[in-house]
Amino acid sequence: MKRDHYSRSARNAFSGLDLNRKPLLPGNPTSWEEFLALNNSSFVAVRGDEILFDPAGTDPLLLDARMLGGCDHAFLQPMLLGDDGQTTFFALNVDRMPASLAQCLAGLGTFARLRQHVATMSGKIASLLGYACFAAGWQSQTRFCSLCGHPTVSKPSSLAQCCTNPSCAAEHFPRINPAMIVLVHHPEKDMCLLGRQSSWKPRVYSALAGYVEPGESAEDAVLREVMEETGIRVRDIRYHSSQPWPFSSSLMLGFHALAENLDIHLDDRELEDARWFPRQEIPGLLEKGDLALPSTETIARHLFDAWIQGDLGD
Ligand SMILES: [Zn+2]
Repeated sequence: MKRDHYSRSARNAFSGLDLNRKPLLPGNPTSWEEFLALNNSSFVAVRGDEILFDPAGTDPLLLDARMLGGCDHAFLQPMLLGDDGQTTFFALNVDRMPASLAQCLAGLGTFARLRQHVATMSGKIASLLGYACFAAGWQSQTRFCSLCGHPTVSKPSSLAQCCTNPSCAAEHFPRINPAMIVLVHHPEKDMCLLGRQSSWKPRVYSALAGYVEPGESAEDAVLREVMEETGIRVRDIRYHSSQPWPFSSSLMLGFHALAENLDIHLDDRELEDARWFPRQEIPGLLEKGDLALPSTETIARHLFDAWIQGDLGD
């Protein structure tokens, strides 16, 4: 089935979150105490790439002000994520709290890696929690002003980190890193090019990916990365969909492209291996366990599935 770009991207995990990111909150609160007092606030506690789950570790634990009542509010520094019309959501970054406050929050549940639970969550919850991870990661990376070196503090009502030096007073807003990911295939041979890194689980192969460098378009990065990593020249680059990837503060831009040659050279050693996988051999390789695909929350898997299904873009 042919899809437009929005609906393709909305199928990627962590996408499609429908929040008002600049809500007008009742009473125009400006302090954390006023935000905490909002009767429809919900807080996502984040520690690195982990989220606070219930004590059994099965469901994400969205905290309300009552549940936070036993913890010292003075250093919470919640980050406003947005409002869905019923609830105002905030992220709490445990890595930037005093140890006593971090322990208090950790005592309310159990921290677990978000990525390992995405498959069992609704798309909306996964996107909300992913957004909270982005926000917490941004706050952790912005402890000091990049202009003058003074410490920063969170600004109520936005994700900005504000310099505490009065003569600087710079506001720093979240940054994301554009990266491309591409499923290369050979139309006449009907096979696709997948690579693997040595740190991955055995037999997992995936689409090729890399960061867009300064002075490049995303398509320039596709051409360069595929050539650097595998020695394959590509043409007919087609955009498919995008995915926010919270764990590296990235925006993944997904493409398909056609290969012009077949000889693979792993010259830059970024990949442990790269191979051509003929379409008709893939089911057998999967069945025997000789090939494992990326998990379903990744855009890499969706690019592969789209190739299998013939949804290759416009
Ligand atoms: Zn500054």
